[in-house]
Amino acid sequence: MIRRKHFQQLADIVGEDYFSAEDYMTHLYSHDIAALPGIVNDVINPQAKAVAQPTTTEVVSNLLKFCKKENIPVVPRGHGTSGYGGALPTRGGLVVEMTRMNQIYNIDRDAMTIEVGAGIIWGKLLEDLEDEELSVAAYPSSAPSSTVGGWVAAGGSGVGSTKYGGIKEQVVDIEVVLPDGEVIRTKESPLNIFMDAGPESFYGGDASFYWETESDTTTDTTSTSMFIDSNGALGIITKVVLKIIPLRLIRPLTISFPNREQTIGAMQEILRVAKPFYLHFITDEFYGMLKEVDQAPDTAGEWLVLCALEGTEQETEIEAKKIIESMGMYHGTVESEEIAHHEWDERFYPMRIKRLGPSLAPSEVYVPLERMNDFINH
Ligand SMILES: Cc1cc2nc3c(=O)[nH]c(=O)nc-3n(C[C@H](O)[C@H](O)[C@H](O)COP(=O)(O)OP(=O)(O)OC[C@H]3O[C@@H](n4cnc5c(N)ncnc54)[C@H](O)[C@@H]3O)c2cc1C
Repeated sequence: MIRRKHFQQLADIVGEDYFSAEDYMTHLYSHDIAALPGIVNDVINPQAKAVAQPTTTEVVSNLLKFCKKENIPVVPRGHGTSGYGGALPTRGGLVVEMTRMNQIYNIDRDAMTIEVGAGIIWGKLLEDLEDEELSVAAYPSSAPSSTVGGWVAAGGSGVGSTKYGGIKEQVVDIEVVLPDGEVIRTKESPLNIFMDAGPESFYGGDASFYWETESDTTTDTTSTSMFIDSNGALGIITKVVLKIIPLRLIRPLTISFPNREQTIGAMQEILRVAKPFYLHFITDEFYGMLKEVDQAPDTAGEWLVLCALEGTEQETEIEAKKIIESMGMYHGTVESEEIAHHEWDERFYPMRIKRLGPSLAPSEVYVPLERMNDFINH
């Protein structure tokens, strides 16, 4: 339990300016981006007691050593965009927000990797890399506000994943501070890192806690993949080494369709003839909601596919030609470049329809494309 007497000690560790137990701060950090239904809120009752914003790995380590000694629950937080409650302090305690660890430490052009602080915002990283004619191969569509460490911890796929894979495929190495304050590099740590010490959690040694790893031991013998998608349960990620790629041309295409069957058939065809960087579709129902918030493009059909190709001018031209030629079979209309660029810029704002009012909680599902028709039909 965190008590008032701990506040000054925590402030001494993290620095007065980067610690707060003020009501407005604890209220803010008791939420993430999602508006939880009242009944869920009543059950989990998230209430931060204090917030720390560390600036170095050493400070994170000292914080965790102290919290372990005093049995204070700790919840790591990036920028609170996940909306699934992972960053909510359901046991009170200390929220450790990582956005002040936002530096670029190293760009290695030979290995094509970059080392960053876990709290750097993806959008800022993309901008800084663009200045160097570089980019990351995949990023979440929450990039304008989510952190690198947050996506590593939450796992998932995003923009670029159709071509380059999800976050798991981008991470080369992670610096993690374990719950007892020990700092490790996952690349140098074996997969069975927790075996000797026994299961360990942030919550004072819950005996029933057991982390079953989904890591692919045939390809990864280090502990890197174990920390991806661990949602902050195994430690605080302080630095991440990511793969980078040369900055290349992005050519967006928007194609509209009269119905679901044609849309799904066309997406399968696109994946057959090309390797798009991004492939996204909008149902007629979603299109209707976009219309209500004045964000629907003026297209021939109300089922849309946005596809972005990445490469040299020649490569993207060849792929675009193949796609455009095959869309006739599906009664697709290739929309103007202006619409295509607008839809590409909109990739960051899938939540615009939230303006219409409260809705069901969002969720992420993986469906094989050949089953998509049945899935949407249901
Ligand atoms: C508009 C929008 C678009 C989105 N698009 C995508 C998408 O394309 N793909 C996708 O996968 N998700 C997406 N998301 C979900 C979410 O944005 C991502 O999961 C994002 O990466 C979370 O980052 P964050 O910094 O906000 O983390 P938070 O929400 O703060 O935290 C997420 C989880 O990670 C843990 N965590 C955060 N930082 C650390 C750290 N440094 N060390 C250890 N644990 C940590 C937290 O405890 C929590 O469990 C989207 C969300 C929104 C609102």
